[in-house]
Amino acid sequence: MDRVVIIGAGQAGCQLAVSLREKNFPGDIVLLGDEGELPYQRPPLSKAYLRDASGSDALRIKPAEFFVERNIDFRADTPAESIDRSRREVALRSGETVSYDRLVLATGVRNRTVTLPNADAKSIAYLRTRREAESLRLRMAQARTVVVIGAGFIGMEFAAVARQSGLDVTVIEQADRSMSRAVSKIMSSFIEARHRAEGVNFEFGAGIQGFEIRQSVAQAVCLNDGRSIPADLVLAAVGVIPNTDLAEGAGLRTRNGILVDRTLTTDDPVIHAIGDCAVYPHPLCGGREIRLESVQNASDQARFLASAIMGEATHYDSVPWFWSDQYDMKLQIAGVPGPDDIHQLSGDPIAGQFSVRHSTDGRLTALETMNQVREHMLARNDLKRTLVAIGSPSASRV
Ligand SMILES: Cc1cc2nc3c(=O)[nH]c(=O)nc-3n(C[C@H](O)[C@H](O)[C@H](O)COP(=O)(O)OP(=O)(O)OC[C@H]3O[C@@H](n4cnc5c(N)ncnc54)[C@H](O)[C@@H]3O)c2cc1C
Repeated sequence: MDRVVIIGAGQAGCQLAVSLREKNFPGDIVLLGDEGELPYQRPPLSKAYLRDASGSDALRIKPAEFFVERNIDFRADTPAESIDRSRREVALRSGETVSYDRLVLATGVRNRTVTLPNADAKSIAYLRTRREAESLRLRMAQARTVVVIGAGFIGMEFAAVARQSGLDVTVIEQADRSMSRAVSKIMSSFIEARHRAEGVNFEFGAGIQGFEIRQSVAQAVCLNDGRSIPADLVLAAVGVIPNTDLAEGAGLRTRNGILVDRTLTTDDPVIHAIGDCAVYPHPLCGGREIRLESVQNASDQARFLASAIMGEATHYDSVPWFWSDQYDMKLQIAGVPGPDDIHQLSGDPIAGQFSVRHSTDGRLTALETMNQVREHMLARNDLKRTLVAIGSPSASRV
């Protein structure tokens, strides 16, 4: 194996380069990033980074010297434009081509945008990149009233930070509760109650008609029912779209992500996909195809693929887990909730410490915990045992 080319220098792509060198991979590693900076972690962007102006160095996954010392050819600001599978070459926007023996797509996702009247880049903010977080922080310093569109994880985390920064915050959500795709009703209610106690307003089941702007700056968000909610800052957090364009252009199969098998390989045996952009069959979900957006998934898939490239592992099957921090609440989820799960509450929501167990046929599928780190870890161990019992060949990490 001579050269591994990785497209996307985020959590997954960077971890893969790091893990390959840790395993003494002897060939060339080319890491292509389309952002103009070193690889960084995104979780703090909707949390501490918005309040703390201490700079971007703390976000860096590795310092610049690391890439030089480990002979990793990291290229910032170098978007890949197309893949020529027959020649095994990647064409860069610069006009250059890079040949590969193995190609890894770690292209992540991009924000879904709002396409309503007056929804232009100046009036609506988005949050995915460090630059966007930087700009949001500056806009927060000028703002008094904030509307957050979307009560998913990022919207809710941002609402908490904005409220802690003294802003008036309203969250508008078309569903009837927050984080509805990921957590149980009990957990949504608990977290919403805390936001309300902090002074956040919610508009659930609400549709948006458009925006009032003055000189390109948002003034209010207009709801379908005729009301206007004042806002001098609007953050849209309305979901993401996986970056599959390169894969599609190269004739690889995609379905809400780049389809890979349990070795994280696409239809082409020398092309892999990892992280937020990859869709794969998970044994804990009965082989159902899932696409996860989490640091655990990106990092574990990268570590697995490094092992597989070195001939040390055969099948990817890590236990999924996720966290979200809002105020002093730590929400953690181990496993993947299924659509027909039974829910069981244990612990005491009034005391702020409880868990919601998801199960199918008596078997744990996922555990949501609120401020219960130990229970979360036990659930991960439990799910790991399930993986082993299912007969996964390499259920080696929790
Ligand atoms: C604000 C925010 C908060 C989050 N909080 C949490 C959290 O609390 N817990 C948690 O587990 N997860 C959290 N996440 C999710 C987590 O950050 C992602 O799951 C993780 O970053 C995925 O890693 P990735 O490498 O797949 O994608 P990314 O980290 O998004 O990296 C993909 C990279 O590929 C680049 N790219 C795309 N196309 C090309 C191309 N053609 N050429 C070159 N480069 C390209 C992209 O620009 C990007 O830099 C959060 C995400 C955000 C945005």
